[in-house]
Formats: sequence, structure tokens, C-alpha cells
Amino acid sequence: MHLPLSEPDIGEREIEYVTRVLRSQRLSLGPAVTQFEDRFAQYIGARHAIAVNSGTSALHLCVRAMGIRAGDAVITTSFSFVASVNCVLFEGASPILLDIEPRTLNLDPNQVRDFLRRECTRQAGGAVVQRATGKIIKAILPVHVFGLPCDMQAFTQLAREYNLLLLEDACEAIGAETGGRRAGTFGDAAVFAFYPNKQMTTGEGGMIVTDDLGIAEMCRSLRNQGRDANGAWLNHVQLGYNYRLSDIHAALGLAQLERIAELLAGRREAALMYSRLLESAELLELPHEQPGVKRSWFVYVIRFRGNSPRELRERVRQALLQQGITTQIYFPAIHRQPYFRAYQPQLLELPHTEQAADSCLALPFSSRLGEAEIHFVCDAIASALGESALPAPAAPQPHPLHAERAIDRCSNTTAPLA
Ligand SMILES: *Cc1c(COP(=O)(O)O)cnc(C)c1O
Repeated sequence: MHLPLSEPDIGEREIEYVTRVLRSQRLSLGPAVTQFEDRFAQYIGARHAIAVNSGTSALHLCVRAMGIRAGDAVITTSFSFVASVNCVLFEGASPILLDIEPRTLNLDPNQVRDFLRRECTRQAGGAVVQRATGKIIKAILPVHVFGLPCDMQAFTQLAREYNLLLLEDACEAIGAETGGRRAGTFGDAAVFAFYPNKQMTTGEGGMIVTDDLGIAEMCRSLRNQGRDANGAWLNHVQLGYNYRLSDIHAALGLAQLERIAELLAGRREAALMYSRLLESAELLELPHEQPGVKRSWFVYVIRFRGNSPRELRERVRQALLQQGITTQIYFPAIHRQPYFRAYQPQLLELPHTEQAADSCLALPFSSRLGEAEIHFVCDAIASALGESALPAPAAPQPHPLHAERAIDRCSNTTAPLA
């Protein structure tokens, strides 16, 4: 068997919508992009949506639109995909990496509050300055890690209290909810991403959502070479980029968005099955949801417990690999990445982040993962752990839709996604 880490869920509707755009000859700056934006804004519950060519571009444009530049600092997490820190570095600003809550793996609002109280001073004009460096704290950038919403009530309050901007990285959290509201509706702006391992995909792509007309207009101009909204094609009012999403990609996004409830339900079902089968494994900590919080299942990440989780993880990882099961260490801490030293040579100590980075492992996961495949992975984990106490499969019946695929995989050598 070959089990990739993730795979997209592409149906006939996707093929039909993309084909329609190809036949229309309007491959860029056409109606599909606008339609995708309108539907996406409506789904999230935001006033404006701006489609771009990646989640990283979306983050970068928000940082530019928020006026974050050299001399400024942004509070964020090291337990994330590199893009959420890089977007700050792109503009010569400084990321301030604070620790996570060990249970949720999200940026800890108490750490942020302590940092603002103890290490910053409010200047006469209202700016909040880090005393040690003189840098102006401009924004908080929380990341909804693995689709679990951050404590947005706390971050909203802190942003208000210290007059900071709030940028939500919701790239892993489409459809997630907290306090009855969708992730992406709390910040001054939020970003989503559509790489093929995400809950919905456009191949490559991203989206900015905001209620702020100024941010929306700035992002629209910046993604399109700094053109004025109403200006002529060769009238560039500021330094911009080509971060546009094509209509071909947008058509794929439209089809996926129309199926989003089904895609999320398929992932949830797979996650619940993993949790049921791995529940009794004492050396594992499983992902969870808290009351009042609805996770959007992006990945299924287990944590290894015990004295040497890193070694145990490596042992299990190798055992799974032997059986054709791909796993991924999600996330290695950003402050430990080789490139990061050049930006912040001083050694950071983030104990909860480091413990998470040393113990987390993402299992194969997608909306198309069948029961037989999940059983196969869980059995492999149990035997690698030396725990054979997993509940026996009631009757090893693969989901009818997945049965053929599970067999297919015996000869399938598709490369795993990142
Ligand atoms: C996927 C992702 C992004 C954006 O990724 P792109 O590959 O640029 O679309 C940003 N932040 C997080 C946390 C992500 O998971």
C-alpha cells in the first residue's frame, strides 16, 4: 500500500467549471475571479474578499496594506508554517515570537499580555514600543494551527487595549468556528490558502478577507502591479506585485467552495475515526476540540508522550514508512530553521513550542481517506508502539466509495504532497 500524506478531492464539477473557463477564452481578470471572491466573502461572513496566487501572497499584501515596515514589530508564533513569519520579514519588520499554549498549540494570549505589560511602553502618541529594541509593536498575527481557532476573544481584547492591528492567519482553518463566529471574521484582515493539501484547493491560491474598505482597496491595487482601482492599465500609483489568481484557478475554487460542507464533513469523519481507533494508545496525545470551538480538520496530528517523544516518534515514523505510510513532522519550530538565524541571531527559548515541535506527527489525511486505510495506519502505529490493544475492526468493511481506491493504492506511487 502507498498512502500519501494528503490528497486533493477533485470531482466532475471541478473539471466542468475549469473547462468552461478554458472554452470562454477569459483566462485572467475575468468573471470567475470576481464570482469566487463574492461567494468566498459570503461564506466567511466578510464584506470584501481579494483572491491572490498563494496564501503567502495574501499574508504579504496584508502586511503591506497595514503599513507594517522596517522599525515595526509583529507579535506571532514560531509554531506555524514559515509564511506567517516571512511576511513580516519581507517588509523588513521584526517578528516577535512568543510561546504557545501546550494544549491547543496556538499562540498563548497570556504570553502576549505579559510581553505587552512587562516589556513594552506606551508612548505619548499612543504607539506601543518594545523597550529593549525601540521597535513599534504594530500588530498581532495569530495562526489557527491545524484548523483549531485561537482564543480570538482574548486577542481582540488585547488588540483593542493596546491599539494594535489584528491579522488572522486562517490558512488552515476554513469553516472553523469559535464563539459562534467563523475564523477569519475577527481580525482587521484574515488570509486563507488553497494549496492542494488544504481543505479546499485551487492548485495554488490564496484569499484575503476584510471588512475594511481601505485594506481591501490597497490589496486589490497591490496584487495588480500597484494599479489604481479606476486607473488606466498603465497607470501605476504605487509599487505593486503580480499576485493575481487566474480565472482557471478561480473556477476550481468555485467548484470546491460549492462542495465545502461535504469536504469538511469527509475530513471530520476521518478524524473521528482516527481518534476512536487511537484512543487507547497511552503513549499518544490526540487532537481535540474544546467546548464552543469547532475545528476545521486540516491535518490529523498526534503527539508522542513519555521521556523521549522525539526518539519514539522517529521509531514509529520509520515503521510506518516501511509499510508505505507517509507521515510528516508538523511543525518544526520556525525559530530553529536554519534561515532564521540571519534575521534573529539571539537564541530564543520557547519551551512549549519546542516540546510540540519535538513530539508532533501528521498522519495521512484527506476527505477521501477510507476506513480500511485508517485501520491500516492505526494498526501500524499500534504495533510500532508495542500496544496491540486497539479495538478490533468490527468488520473490516471499507467505505464503498473508498474500497476500490484502497486497492488501487497497492500499485500507486503518486508522490506525497508537502
Ligand atoms: C498553507 C499555509 C500558508 C500559505 O501557504 P501557501 O503555500 O503560500 O498558499 C500560510 N500559513 C499557514 C499557517 C499555512 O498552513
